[in-house]
Amino acid sequence: MLPRLSEEHEIFRHSVAEFVEREVKPNAHQWEHDGEVPRALFEKLGKLGFLGVRLSEEYGGSGLDFWYTTILLQELMKCGSVGVPVAIMTHAEFATKIIDRMGSDDLKKRFVLPATKGEMIGSLGVTEPGAGSDVASLRTKAVRDGDDYIINGAKVFITNGTISNFITTAVRTGGEGYRGISIIVVPSDSKGLTRRRLLKTATHASDTAELTFEDVRVPAENLLGEENKGFRYIMQGFEGERLVLSIIACCQMRLMFETAREWGHDRKAFGQSLLGFQVWQHRLADVLTNITAAEALTYSGIDQYVRGEPANAEISMAKLFATEMARHVAHECAQIHGGMALMEESLMARLYRDIMGFTIGAGTSETMRGIIAKSSGLME
Ligand SMILES: Cc1cc2nc3c(=O)[nH]c(=O)nc-3n(C[C@H](O)[C@H](O)[C@H](O)COP(=O)(O)OP(=O)(O)OC[C@H]3O[C@@H](n4cnc5c(N)ncnc54)[C@H](O)[C@@H]3O)c2cc1C
Repeated sequence: MLPRLSEEHEIFRHSVAEFVEREVKPNAHQWEHDGEVPRALFEKLGKLGFLGVRLSEEYGGSGLDFWYTTILLQELMKCGSVGVPVAIMTHAEFATKIIDRMGSDDLKKRFVLPATKGEMIGSLGVTEPGAGSDVASLRTKAVRDGDDYIINGAKVFITNGTISNFITTAVRTGGEGYRGISIIVVPSDSKGLTRRRLLKTATHASDTAELTFEDVRVPAENLLGEENKGFRYIMQGFEGERLVLSIIACCQMRLMFETAREWGHDRKAFGQSLLGFQVWQHRLADVLTNITAAEALTYSGIDQYVRGEPANAEISMAKLFATEMARHVAHECAQIHGGMALMEESLMARLYRDIMGFTIGAGTSETMRGIIAKSSGLME
């Protein structure tokens, strides 16, 4: 169960819920069709302060705790399109938060301030064609040339890649391995940067791109923090990103459960509703139990994270359990829909396919198991 939060949290939930009902829900289906969320949505969210909940007050944010991000996500997820919260979280939590945390005053003025207002959209460029889970092997190279860096290489699977104004980019500035990685903020209109939209089978409202850097010249002051310390900055950001994925998985499971319950109530077979059969009462009872367990683990991870306690293993457990459980729950909830589960007109079809990326993004299930094994002394 969600822990008891403050009155301020509840007021915030109320205003997000109202916004989602008015501005997001009626349009989510169209954005799924268009393959991206409109820039106007970011601007509206920015005006209401929803993009800067965890960003510094000095740069337009509110400096609030992660429970506010949780609430924002829970309400956004009610629109039924995972792509919408993914686009917003990638912008605010993944691409901008790291600049807010590590960037110079100048970088924060140039990127965090407009990102908070929704005037600029951000993406995070870490994954490459040859380096996914193994972040330390990335090869996109940045070479210092006077007051600039010159960047050459490629990134793939970059969320918001074609709509973003800046890419918080992981590059190699030093030798092999994790010690040679830095983060540079690359403006999307930089000469030599090309972006190609990739077509996905799921989360259609979130745009995903391949980026190519050919002699892209970026001012040296766009470096985040210290040179060759970027790997650590990325890893620190992963805790928040994994919690985001855990929350999304929990919300998606709730949506699937409610959809299945409604269908089971309305659909008749052999003279009674499907929920008249004990087999479906029990299968959905199991589903609800599993969702509640995933939420408990996720809330416990958030609680530790908000308290500032070391939570890497717990957050990895939450991400692993919630995202893997979403696959099982999707199967159960789709099964009660029979053939309708495959039809585009059915919400269940979209809910089912949208869970595919949960066990992959922000660290795969195998990576999560590796972290848990290491932190539990299981590795020989
Ligand atoms: C929809 C979507 C959006 C994304 N958005 C972004 C984004 O905005 N920015 C960004 O930088 N990246 C993004 N990614 C990329 C994502 O982070 C990577 O897909 C992920 O890290 C896995 O990398 P990979 O796909 O290259 O798989 P690989 O690393 O090649 O892994 C393939 C398989 O091998 C397994 N594997 C790898 N290493 C081991 C090991 N040591 N032991 C056992 N098994 C292993 C993996 O778990 C996986 O099952 C996105 C991905 C998706 C699907």
